[in-house]
Amino acid sequence: MRAIVLDRDRVAVRTDHPEPSLRHDETMVQVLCAGICETDLQLIRGYMGFHGVLGHEFVGVAQTGPLAGRRVVGEINCSCHRCHTCMAGRPTHCPHRSVLGILNHDGAFADFIAVPQRNLHAVPDSMPTDVAVFTEPVAAAFQIPDQLAIKRQDHIVVLGDGRLGNLCAQVLAGLSRHVLVVGKHVSKLTLLRSLGLSTCLLANRPDDHSADIVVDCTGSPSGLPTALNLVRPRGTIVLKTTVAGDQTMAWAPVVIDEVTIVGSRCGPFDRALIALETGEVDVLPLMSGRFDLAHGVEALEHAAKPGMLKVLLDVSQS
Ligand SMILES: [Zn+2]
Ligand SMILES: [Zn+2]
Repeated sequence: MRAIVLDRDRVAVRTDHPEPSLRHDETMVQVLCAGICETDLQLIRGYMGFHGVLGHEFVGVAQTGPLAGRRVVGEINCSCHRCHTCMAGRPTHCPHRSVLGILNHDGAFADFIAVPQRNLHAVPDSMPTDVAVFTEPVAAAFQIPDQLAIKRQDHIVVLGDGRLGNLCAQVLAGLSRHVLVVGKHVSKLTLLRSLGLSTCLLANRPDDHSADIVVDCTGSPSGLPTALNLVRPRGTIVLKTTVAGDQTMAWAPVVIDEVTIVGSRCGPFDRALIALETGEVDVLPLMSGRFDLAHGVEALEHAAKPGMLKVLLDVSQS
């Protein structure tokens, strides 16, 4: 089959990649469309030391199992569902897990992907594939209200106007009246304003320790120190993006201001599908390019350019 394979730091489209072999709990999914995410770009730079087929945001058609013939999206953590962590209700933290396209499991930039049956969610028939392909990052945004009680009067600052910052801001704007997105890109901030959000340029940020919650979606080592200048004493910083490598910073302000720092990763797919179906979250304006799988290397280069939001890979027709 065709696949975009990362081998050390080299990415290539292969036409002779073997089809995935199915484990007993897995279903074969024919991929229709996949989204390129910041994590894919980080993996190419060496994050996690991953090699194999990239891609974890996808819509496909289940080939086997109870959803055979239906369009599906898939949660990315493949957990054992037997260990203490899984039994305690934290399967996304299973120490034995693999992660689609990220850790010890081939991903979705390919004609076929093997996905645990229990990870699959049917896509509503009325939902376009181009909308459904955003389920995984929208679910990640919904992880924030799963971890924190958010009140209507909370003042929330989202740092970063990129793909994930945009989606987190849209989700949080459904819960709080005061969401401000701070970013560096005029065009991305303009898009956010057209979606009804308040924005401000990084240079004009309100550095007055007034935010109840700051969500760092910058993917940059400067995100956390900036967040510490925005958050109020006993406020909360949510770290939504991973930064490869080590970070050095002054930690005393965290202690002095009694700031809570919350790491936040994968979230609820069922909630994301509802938000996409009802239009609570508007994803189509984020699309900034589409390529077919054969041009996957160009697609990845395009996604890494400044100003890009979501680049899609068309894999096959439904
Ligand atoms: Zn992703
Ligand atoms: Zn487990």
